[in-house]
Amino acid sequence: MPLSKPTILVVEDETAIRQMLRFALEHAGMRVIEAAHVKMARRYLQETALPDLILLDWMLPSISGIDFAKELKRHRHTQNIPIILLTAKALEDDKVTGLEAGADDYMVKPFSPRELLARINAVLRRGPIKQPDGTIHVGELLVNVDAQRASFAGQEIKLGPLEYRLLAFFVTHQDRAYTRDDLLSLVWGVSAYLDQRTVDVHIRRLRKVLKPYGLDGMVQTIHGLGYRFSVKQDKPL
Ligand code: CA
Repeated sequence: MPLSKPTILVVEDETAIRQMLRFALEHAGMRVIEAAHVKMARRYLQETALPDLILLDWMLPSISGIDFAKELKRHRHTQNIPIILLTAKALEDDKVTGLEAGADDYMVKPFSPRELLARINAVLRRGPIKQPDGTIHVGELLVNVDAQRASFAGQEIKLGPLEYRLLAFFVTHQDRAYTRDDLLSLVWGVSAYLDQRTVDVHIRRLRKVLKPYGLDGMVQTIHGLGYRFSVKQDKPL
């Protein structure tokens, strides 16, 4: 968490939900900026200091939250602001669509303010996710998403292309569990004709590469569900 009050931009067209969010977030010591639609949010982002996080409703008038998320991720100025998507859609496909659009996390309505705060804090704890040079820092592990390289304590980690993609996905989506199907869609980009065991094979390879650096424990198996990447190595879900 940043030392100063984190600023959360809430983009939501329903007044009642916006007010509920303002109440819950301010109560938790956050600063809230409200935008009822994308135009208002754009104006704020152009004219004011960038927020620490954006809560973005999926269903908005004229421009959807998904399209706005894509727009934000396209622009250098705004691409590093974490986004949590608020959605009434709970289907697996929608979750994937949201994450593919660049959202860091998603909340399915109706949700409890308490759960939302936990997610917001989890995203904020990741700190400045991507440095301007494209590097993501996880302690001494550096993953450069632009150059597709990874290193630990200055030493280059040699990864196969799929292991690299898995690692890059994990460091940008920490502390969440993903099923094998999620990973096939989000990392491989296909799911129809690949066996779920493909995921296990590459997870094993990734752990093997990370093991000499003592990082293999970050790639965690969630029994009956899938996998999760976390620096908290000992905390079961
Ligand atoms: Ca809405």
